[in-house]
Amino acid sequence: MTSADASTRPPLLTLSGVAKTYGGGTVALAGVDATIRQGDFISLVGPSGCGKSTLLRIVAGLIGPSGGDVCWHTADGARPADIGFVFQDATLMPWASVLDNVFLPLKLRGMAREKAQPQLMEALERVGLADFSGAFPRELSGGMKMRVSLARALVTEPPVLLMDEPFAALDEFTREKLDDDLLQLWSSLRWTVIFVTHSIYESVYLSERVLVMGARPGRVLGEVGIEAPYPRGPAFRRSHGYVDYCAVVSTALREGAAP
Ligand code: ADP
Repeated sequence: MTSADASTRPPLLTLSGVAKTYGGGTVALAGVDATIRQGDFISLVGPSGCGKSTLLRIVAGLIGPSGGDVCWHTADGARPADIGFVFQDATLMPWASVLDNVFLPLKLRGMAREKAQPQLMEALERVGLADFSGAFPRELSGGMKMRVSLARALVTEPPVLLMDEPFAALDEFTREKLDDDLLQLWSSLRWTVIFVTHSIYESVYLSERVLVMGARPGRVLGEVGIEAPYPRGPAFRRSHGYVDYCAVVSTALREGAAP
């Protein structure tokens, strides 16, 4: 699979002039335009406060824009009912086992635990935690907690996965491992991912396209297509192409930050 395949995919979501001003008068976003296609892996990269989380929350439908259009190219034109969301904090229930944490979205849909069991085990297997189904969050490392969070987001098999700096609190080694595992899951399941990060390196490693955002007011400064085949791995991280792409994204960010 190469990024070139991406241009032939049908569009999933078009953002046109999306703006957001919060109650206190903070202009978080001013006119964001972007097109996301089905199966894309997109990163949003930009300095703190440029509106990355705000944009993700608008896409999720958690908050509404104050201007512009969010147009879903689904059969009925509506936002997919099921959108997975992973936050930087794993937000697990400390009193519940790993299995019960992953069960939560299915429980909220009224599914019986017994019926859900195969789905729960499959979700845990996907993230490499099948042997930890009975463990409690306090017994897990930060990386394992994040895997549980990922399994919980994926257990309903959502067509879209939104990730807000999910691995930012993890050490470099764990983060790289989770990046690789995430890419492997995306390659096999082909859901659409919008991934927020402030790491240029992570955005280039993961994505087919990096949307570079600037602050005051928050907007998309430009887009960098990462024309490197998947699977990506250590050789890609060490390649000249990777370093060059990181430099391009870095320059775009710096130009956006210049007064
Ligand atoms: P990022 O994710 O890039 O760090 P955010 O989307 O979190 O940026 O924030 C963009 C701007 O909007 C910031 O100035 C932030 O302080 C402000 N902001 C975010 N959420 C709220 C809110 N609920 N109420 C008021 N201002 C907010």
